[in-house]
Parts: sequence; structure tokens; C-alpha cells
Amino acid sequence: MILIDGKKAAAELRAELKEEVAGLKSKHNKVPGLTVILIGDLTPSQIYVRNKEKSANEVGLKSEVIKYPDSVEEKTVLEKIKELNSDETVSGILVQLPLPKHIDKQKVIEAINPSKDVDGFHPMNVGNLSSGYESSIPCTPLGCYLLIKKIEPNLSGKKAVVVGRSNLNGKPMTQLLLKENCTVTITHSKTKDLKAECLEADIIVAAVGIPELVRGDWVKKDAIVIDVGINKTDNGIVGDVHFDEVSKNAKALTPVPGGVGPMTIACLLKNTIECFKRSQK
Ligand code: NAD
Repeated sequence: MILIDGKKAAAELRAELKEEVAGLKSKHNKVPGLTVILIGDLTPSQIYVRNKEKSANEVGLKSEVIKYPDSVEEKTVLEKIKELNSDETVSGILVQLPLPKHIDKQKVIEAINPSKDVDGFHPMNVGNLSSGYESSIPCTPLGCYLLIKKIEPNLSGKKAVVVGRSNLNGKPMTQLLLKENCTVTITHSKTKDLKAECLEADIIVAAVGIPELVRGDWVKKDAIVIDVGINKTDNGIVGDVHFDEVSKNAKALTPVPGGVGPMTIACLLKNTIECFKRSQK
């Protein structure tokens, strides 16, 4: 079985991006800039943002974090986004989720200029992705896609099952696999026989949030299995896939941690650079 090393793949991607940023710097005499807005003091969000900043600096991007307390008014955040939208030194804007309850997440997402929406959550980018047009692609599914392509460059005609239909993961993942001419089944909490669906798959992407949901006897021999889940349990962090069981059947499998996670941040940097390049056209 191939253990898909997300840490290594992400380090390779960052090295490529670093070279690309150096090239853009000498061509345009400026570098892409990423601005992250962080609201409140949730520890996981703070850790994510710190890692994003560190990785952005590593590849040579200009990076900035704007912090607000939990009590910040929605209009302050919307005004800041408006200001960043017209700031030429800012190529990408990311508002770290989740937001405090009094702030309307959708309003915030839609306030970001779609051409600077590095998370790919703006309805314009969602629509462009599903129509097959150029768009920002949500970072986690983009990372999964790049890992799958490393194992199997030609996905045409493959059967893929995506477990979970969130806007963050399942839906954009489905679009990416469709674009590659896979036959895609998207499953969710109301799916009647998830095991039977998974058993049909050449590729399984699990993004559910249920520890070790996908078992060994759900997976066809030689399937590629991508585990997006990050679940805290008494035995530490586990994915949505039962690693020990599935590793006996699968052709390739991502570990948790060290699989999809590291690719997510690298893809954020990639999206920032893509936004910059489109703005220079
Ligand atoms: P979500 O809660 O928004 O969506 C979960 C989806 O799973 C829903 O569509 C739901 O219908 C489906 N589902 C629930 N129970 C099911 C069942 N029994 N059978 C089949 N489908 C079922 O979750 P999300 O934001 O997509 O995140 C999913 C997981 O991925 C979480 O563990 C999260 O922590 C993790 N995650 C990881 C990364 C990363 O970088 N690796 C990024 C984002 C999220």
C-alpha cells in the first residue's frame, strides 16, 4: 500500500511556489499578498492562522493578520473587507471561520471580492467551479485532488465516492472529480447503504467528521482512499477512515495526521498566487 505523504507533498508544493513567487517578484517588482482576518480567541483558529502566516512567509508572500476581539461589530469587519478589496497590495483575503454568532458568515463571504477570495467560498467562485470556469477552489478539496492526481494522473472513467456534502469539502470535491471525468456519487447522512456505495469506488474521499466511519470491508481492493476527517478521540486524533483496516485493502491511503491537513495550507498559498497572477493579466 502507498502511504500518501501529505507533509512531503506539501513541502514540494511550497518549494515550487517559492520559486514561482521569486519569478513573479522579478517580473512585476512586487509579491502576492495574503491578508487573514482573525476574530476572537478560539485556540484552533489561532493555531491555523499562525501556521498560515508562517507558510506564507516561507514561500515569500507578503502576509498580514488583522485581529479583532470576539465583540467586534459586523460592520467593522465588512468595512475592513471593503478596504482590503481595493488595496492593490492585497491579492488574497481570508476570514478565518468559525465566526462569532452575531456575525453573518454568508454576508462576510459575499463581501470579499471574488477575485481575492482565496478560500473559494464566494458564490461566484462556487458557480464558476461547477460550470468548469476558472475560479478559486476551496483549499482542502484542492489538496485532496492534487494528492489523488499524484497517485493516478488519469482519472477519466474512474468511479469516485465522496462521503459528505459540505460546501467546504464534499461539494467542491465532487466538482473537481467530475471535471476529471470521474463518475461521482456524493453521499451524506441520509444515504441508505453507504458501505455498498463505497464498495463500488475506485476513489473514496471521506469528509464527514465521524471517527473511523469507513471500515476495511467498505473498500474495494486497490482503491485510492483520501481521509479528510480530523476527529479528537480518547486515543488521539483520528480520521474518518479506519486506517489499520483500510490499509489492508487500499492501493493508497492518506494518514491522519500528515495527509490532507498539510496540503490545505499549501493550497491556500497556491490560491493567493493564482489570484495575484489573474490580477496582473
Ligand atoms: P460538515 O459537518 O460540514 O459536513 C459533514 C458531512 O458529512 C455532511 O454533509 C453530512 O451529511 C455528512 N454525514 C454526516 N453523517 C454521515 C454519515 N453517517 N454517513 C455519511 N455522511 C454523513 O463537515 P466538514 O466541514 O466537511 O468536515 C468534515 C471533516 O473534515 C471534519 O472532521 C473536519 O474536522 C475535517 N476537515 C479537515 C480539513 C483538513 O484540512 N484536513 C479541513 C476541513 C475539515
